[in-house]
Amino acid sequence: MKHDLPVAPHVVDLISELQNAGYEAYIVGGAIRDLLLGRKPKDFDISTSATPEEVRAVFGRRIARIIGKRFRLVHVEYSGELFEVSTFRRAPTRTAANSKKELPENLILSDNSFGTAEEDAWRRDFTVNALFYDPVNSELLDYTGQGIDDIRNRVVRAIGDPKLRFEEDPVRMLRALKLIGQYDFTMDAATENALFSELELIRVAAPSRLALELEKILSSAYGDKHFQAFHDYGLLPYFLPELNAAWDTPHGDYALNLLNERNCRVREGLYRNSVSLAMAALALPFVELECGGKPGDLWNPGPDSTAAIRGVLDRLFKPQTMMNRMTMSAERVLILQSLFRDEKAKPRLIEAKSYPHARELMLLRLSVAEEDTAEAEKLWPAAVPRRRISAAKREDSERSPR
Ligand code: ATP
Ligand code: MG
Repeated sequence: MKHDLPVAPHVVDLISELQNAGYEAYIVGGAIRDLLLGRKPKDFDISTSATPEEVRAVFGRRIARIIGKRFRLVHVEYSGELFEVSTFRRAPTRTAANSKKELPENLILSDNSFGTAEEDAWRRDFTVNALFYDPVNSELLDYTGQGIDDIRNRVVRAIGDPKLRFEEDPVRMLRALKLIGQYDFTMDAATENALFSELELIRVAAPSRLALELEKILSSAYGDKHFQAFHDYGLLPYFLPELNAAWDTPHGDYALNLLNERNCRVREGLYRNSVSLAMAALALPFVELECGGKPGDLWNPGPDSTAAIRGVLDRLFKPQTMMNRMTMSAERVLILQSLFRDEKAKPRLIEAKSYPHARELMLLRLSVAEEDTAEAEKLWPAAVPRRRISAAKREDSERSPR
């Protein structure tokens, strides 16, 4: 179907290069969903008939790097932007390996059999995520036949048998609920029934993949909405039990308010999407509680509060074995909070590596308490990042692809 979607020229160029080398190439997945919803895509995923080695040959080793094991793909750095280019896959054939390892029989362990564009559409998770767009010829392809209607009607519908699709990969349950939370979609009845009957399966999902999802949720500007959907559907106890237990308590509400405030600022382009700030914002009310303060209070600095901070971060996020460097960075942001009360500490505080995020969290706290932030903003200057480019890159690379 002919359809005009606003795609940036350099993305069209990237697709053209693959097509000119004799391969099929499309923009796929979330970017097309977002463009059809009138939203700005976070990033562009490209799908092509070229194998990873062929993609690397088209762009050259300097800008194209093959990554991944369970799902091999190519990172192409094009016009300063990073693209994930993956080869068309077909649905994997299950092997006897699962029974040997005593894993659920439908669980997919590897996903590397190449296929056609159509096969690639059918092995994707939801109809709204399975649209293909060729921006050179303005061609929109809806192989499942339901993607465009489902976007129009804002429905999340699993492709194929929903129960089997969740058994193959339980992380899809999180992905469905993220769409519900973020876009205000509803779930098709069969998909919803399957999700309710399979919820517990999330326990067998690979911890590294759950950790990656958590990282993406925390770096996103909609994480509070994702958590709300997880809670509404009863998935949160399996994913973040500590946050679930605090739901509808004053400190749980406070934590979500802080995250929501951070997300508003990310959406407005005021704050970067730092995972460690999101972690620190969520954890702060739990630390205050642990240190005996009332929600909204500051705690007294000291060795006890450092231990409390570490303990809270562990309990909140460790079920998903978050990467240590992010937990450590959140820890530093929290430790610095009490110093904002102490004018004498100012020179030392401003010099601290975590000062920019610590300052952001301090301002979030004031906003959520409906206090005026103007004075604090004057008193505590916005820090000039020391290593602008490299720091931004590192923050981004905190969020690995999938
Ligand atoms: P976002 O805007 O968060 O990036 P997305 O839908 O693009 O959303 P990605 O993780 O970037 O999410 O995945 C890109 C595409 O790959 C998805 O749209 C979907 O078609 C497919 N996909 C991702 N994860 C799975 C999965 N677990 N099972 C099947 N298909 C998947
Ligand atoms: Mg994407």
